[in-house]
Amino acid sequence: MAPRYDYTLDPTGDVVLTLFNANAPFAVWPQKTSSACHPNAISAKGQSSESQDAEEDDSSFDFLVSSRHLTLSSPVFKAALTGNWVEATVGEDGLRHLYTDDWDVQAMVIAMNVIHGHSRKVPQIVSLELLAKLSVVVDYYQLHDAFYLYACVWIDRLRAQLPDQYNRDLVLWICVSHVFQKTDILSSLTKTATARYTGETVTGLPVPPKIFDEIAWNKRGLQLSVAWKSLQALHSQLTLDEKCLGGWKNCNCRTAHLSALVAFCHSCPGLDLNNLPRTLSSKLGVSDMVERLGKFEYPNQKSREMGRCSHSLKRAVESIIRGLGGVVPA
Ligand SMILES: [Zn+2]
Repeated sequence: MAPRYDYTLDPTGDVVLTLFNANAPFAVWPQKTSSACHPNAISAKGQSSESQDAEEDDSSFDFLVSSRHLTLSSPVFKAALTGNWVEATVGEDGLRHLYTDDWDVQAMVIAMNVIHGHSRKVPQIVSLELLAKLSVVVDYYQLHDAFYLYACVWIDRLRAQLPDQYNRDLVLWICVSHVFQKTDILSSLTKTATARYTGETVTGLPVPPKIFDEIAWNKRGLQLSVAWKSLQALHSQLTLDEKCLGGWKNCNCRTAHLSALVAFCHSCPGLDLNNLPRTLSSKLGVSDMVERLGKFEYPNQKSREMGRCSHSLKRAVESIIRGLGGVVPA
């Protein structure tokens, strides 16, 4: 009896590609499902329980495919099938066997249809989720050329829905635009991400860490610039304005407040109120600045008037802390 395959891409195919543990958790957003494992974690199979093993058995799929198509489309398949590996040898059934795991089965079916030239079976519209799953497969097997036109069509149909918040969709879009080299989209996404970056991300996506490093660095620049401007405005008010922070003329609070501000600036390595670029190019971090602002030493309130003025200074400092995303100390 002829063996049956879940997907026959080529009836005269000479390779059986088996996908184990299909539909593994994909790009899990950390906060909401912290206990779930990301795709990379799945590779730790030695630690999986028996029930998980059983699940893996249930989620395996066989593809009958053509080595000619695989090797033409993918350097990774080519290396596996032409190198000095067990995959390159013919088994007892007269076929060669390749194994893979964790991929989304729908993405894998589309990839195989693309590779085998079954263009009518390739969807013209895909969701962002599926597109991201496809991009991971494309990146791994280096199928960029084979997917070029399809990716252009899919992305063009989805690009009106680019997220304006920093969330999982935005990270998926970063992955898609990086893999398919859509630099205009990537540039727009990194700008959105910079303004709203929270530090959360997903692992297991083929996105170079430098993209998120740059987003984090730009976000730091934005936050420190705002804080620097507020501190500079405070300094100008204390040195140039007619009225003090409490709104009084001829109040003697200024000297004490100015010394407190100058003392703070000296305590904050890298902060230079005369030079924003120098401040930004220093190693000063946002959390560092928040911590130091939290320890701001307010002058003693020598009189009722000055108490009111000090309260204004405290409010200004606390507003800077909040602007940096920090929590005002109780
Ligand atoms: Zn005053």
